[in-house]
Amino acid sequence: MRRIWMVLTVLLGLTWAQYEGRLLVGGQESQAIYPGGDSVAYGPARFIAEALGLGYLEATGKVYLSLGSRVAAFAISSQGADAVRQLNAYRNQDSLWVPVRELARVLDLYYRNDYGAPVLALRPARLLEVQRAMAGSSERYILRFDRDVQVRLLANNPPRLAMIGVTEVPDAPPTSAISFSKESWGTEIYLPQGSDPPRLMFLPQQVVVERGPVTRLPRVVLDAGHGGADTGVAVGSLREKDLTLSVVQQLQKLLQGQAEVVLTRNGDQAVPLLARAQYASTAQVFISLHAAPGSQVTVFSHPEIQTLRLLEKGRELSARSPAAQRAILERYVAAPGSAARLAQAVAESFATAGIVANTSQDAMYVLSMAGGAAVLVEVGIEQLRTPQARAQVAQLLARAVRSYMGLTSSGGGTRP
Ligand SMILES: [Zn+2]
Repeated sequence: MRRIWMVLTVLLGLTWAQYEGRLLVGGQESQAIYPGGDSVAYGPARFIAEALGLGYLEATGKVYLSLGSRVAAFAISSQGADAVRQLNAYRNQDSLWVPVRELARVLDLYYRNDYGAPVLALRPARLLEVQRAMAGSSERYILRFDRDVQVRLLANNPPRLAMIGVTEVPDAPPTSAISFSKESWGTEIYLPQGSDPPRLMFLPQQVVVERGPVTRLPRVVLDAGHGGADTGVAVGSLREKDLTLSVVQQLQKLLQGQAEVVLTRNGDQAVPLLARAQYASTAQVFISLHAAPGSQVTVFSHPEIQTLRLLEKGRELSARSPAAQRAILERYVAAPGSAARLAQAVAESFATAGIVANTSQDAMYVLSMAGGAAVLVEVGIEQLRTPQARAQVAQLLARAVRSYMGLTSSGGGTRP
């Protein structure tokens, strides 16, 4: 009996020896395993997260590792071969392992295979600028980077944040109240003292630090295309920039009381594309309105790549209760497929007036920073020719927004 155990122990030992290797994570030595005997290297999930400062969350049978707005989600398999085949995480007794190369691909980490030993590290990042903005009574600092960056709150007031992997910052801080300090792991940023503790929001290549009251109403941002010297399309005396503004202003009135409605422009002025796109980053619903010759209506949405997800970001706000986390995150973070659902709601609303609206997926800069559902609606000028027609388009869009947000037409809104 004893001999059998010895033999088994030796055999198991050999099996392990065969499928183990080195793994370097951010300069720290760790271990790689090759479950199922395959050539796919797996590393210890929690160790990797801690070594690189990634967000980490295990929930509902999945493990999530995040870097800024990028999230790698892995379903968990307990069979090595299954895990490798589906590039799932692999649970081996108490430890959880993730496929290293796949993780690097999704989070845009540095990856190299050094004579059979995978090397994983953060890519150095640059802080491009810090912008201060007021949104109602909330104060925001928008940190813009050249890639996705993990940021952690080190102190509430005055706020001190760790920007992990950030090696370069602007030469001069935007105000003397902001300062930086270089650390071995990245850079710390000090923001001015405020009355409330800050909340963090992770968006593609930017982190928003917000403080002040959380408004109760959902935020809808309406973007009237063009403006100022840029008139857009013109047909006779009709100019795109005027048509879009007129519809958007009516739409704002229709949604008043049901949403906090913000316009990217409320007059005839030029608004840079970047500013428009940034507005989209803190809206649950963003509609950019354009006109085109003809009578066709097309609803464009940006293809979903690595969008911010509610659950995966929960850990970043670990100081708060789960309910409060949800409340904050839900304000800015749409579930997967939201843009497509909003596009569908717009198409269905137009259909009630006998107008066919086509939906299309297209990479559009103005939609590329959206945190919530964002669409660009292009309406044929023939549908905007008269004041009545423009009022109708505003009503159809209002109906679509309400339907998407699960709101009913109340008091102020009139039904088309
Ligand atoms: Zn246009």
